[in-house]
Amino acid sequence: MKLICITGGVLSGIGKWITGASIGAILKSAGYQIFMQKFDGYLNVDPGTMNPLEHGEVFVTDDGAETDLDIGHYERYIDTSLSANSSWTTGRIYQEIFEKERKGEYLGHTVQVVSHVAQIVKEKIKDWYIYGKTDISLIEIGGTVGDMENEYLIESVRQLRHELGEQNVIFVHLVYVPFLGASQELKTRPAQFSVKDLRARGIEPDVLVVRADKPIEKKVLHKLSLMTGVEENCVIPSPTVKSIYQVPVNYQGYALGNILLQKLNLAQKPFDMSKWNILMQHIEQATVVKKIAMVGKYCTLEDAYYSLNEGLKVAGYRNDIKIQLSFVDAEKIEKDWTKLLEGYDGIVIPGGFGNRGIEGMILAAQYARENHIPYLWICLGSQIMAIEFARNVLGYADAHSEEFSPEGQHNVVHLMQHQRGIQTKGGTMRLGSYECVLDPESLAYRLYGTKQIAERHRHRYEFNNAFREAFEKSWFHISGTSLDGELVEVVELRDHPFMIATQAHPEFKSRPLAPHPLFVGLIQAMKGDKWSFKKHQQ
Ligand code: GLN
Repeated sequence: MKLICITGGVLSGIGKWITGASIGAILKSAGYQIFMQKFDGYLNVDPGTMNPLEHGEVFVTDDGAETDLDIGHYERYIDTSLSANSSWTTGRIYQEIFEKERKGEYLGHTVQVVSHVAQIVKEKIKDWYIYGKTDISLIEIGGTVGDMENEYLIESVRQLRHELGEQNVIFVHLVYVPFLGASQELKTRPAQFSVKDLRARGIEPDVLVVRADKPIEKKVLHKLSLMTGVEENCVIPSPTVKSIYQVPVNYQGYALGNILLQKLNLAQKPFDMSKWNILMQHIEQATVVKKIAMVGKYCTLEDAYYSLNEGLKVAGYRNDIKIQLSFVDAEKIEKDWTKLLEGYDGIVIPGGFGNRGIEGMILAAQYARENHIPYLWICLGSQIMAIEFARNVLGYADAHSEEFSPEGQHNVVHLMQHQRGIQTKGGTMRLGSYECVLDPESLAYRLYGTKQIAERHRHRYEFNNAFREAFEKSWFHISGTSLDGELVEVVELRDHPFMIATQAHPEFKSRPLAPHPLFVGLIQAMKGDKWSFKKHQQ
């Protein structure tokens, strides 16, 4: 069993995920099978019920788990689909323990954090390593060393190293070195203390990754090596770079992959970073700027739509286009819609819940339809597209979704049958990967290049089939449905250059080395490529 544990020190928010995910990308490029798990200290069972403004987006896996957005980062970098087994919280672990305790599985014993909870953490790591036929597993410990709520996680991985041996469990510790303006230098002391903190918990770091906002001179690395005892070639600088996709290439520039393989006593194999280098070339070449308006309500935190932002950006790079994303507050559109939407090459509406901003989104849909602006709608966005079309083209002035007007007469979007009667909130939506069949005479089919697709979902409402005939008589094309034809999955407009919407979340399957076809299509339409499938015959 070969495990790399990633811990963080000094500050939170310095990007442990990028270190872990980049290590994953490097090792994967040498042909190793990589798995990852993230352990978080908080008590929510999963992030599914947390506000994206507080915790960032909820990332959905194929098997329908609502996970931490870091799982998405790892999927993108190691280009591998992960599952519920990758995302663990104290809440989820305790839930399991309480269930066991009530069943009597600990009968006669006092259930304790260090023995029993740590035992569960170790089991989760070992079991899923074996189950995934993994070569190397990456274990990220949330938070910062010294956080009270993560102590038991640090203790669990310390025990693992003790049990499995130094050549099987290694530690990468990420630290931050602040820049002091007065003396114009990077200061290493907080990083030194953070290594001490880790040592006090019985863990000797094998590799130190050093984050800074400035270039890091050799003497800083030398000092850190001297003061922490980490070998000098294992102190890896990680200064802020222009693109997050540069990080794996930069790390491998310091032979990080070779160092890790050597520490783990694994065979050295050639690392092929060529795909990452090509991506970097595209990023360099992307000088033409195209503007996308993202019309939503979580406009203040980029992390709230992280996968979507990255999906759009990498689709841009693939076309040598630099995407400039602007968040347009849907509520403000309600007041002054045309002005706020002027000058964009494309409009995107992401998924969402709740009433706020809905009328603004409907206006954005109308604007994009009438002005022939390329337009991609996701989940809630696809429902908005149906409402707008029903109101302004089909003539149902009061058209709405049951989510926002429960008693409405013309709810073209309504609660899914199997959702009726569900009262609890966590993990109860239609979640995870579902298959969809595409009409070969459609834009969706041309973009995907295949008749059957599978995308990830996270919703409770769906297109109301009672209105299907009315829609299909017009130029509103239902181009993708569930395999039994019952659920509407993809819709598009026939007389528009690029107006397509999906009930699913394509952003969860877009990868930097393999951008999603819907996003690539949108960017091409923004460049002026003619995608419109067929003119509507009046
Ligand atoms: N609120 C809508 C629903 O539950 C859309 C959800 C979403 O966009 N993820 O169906």
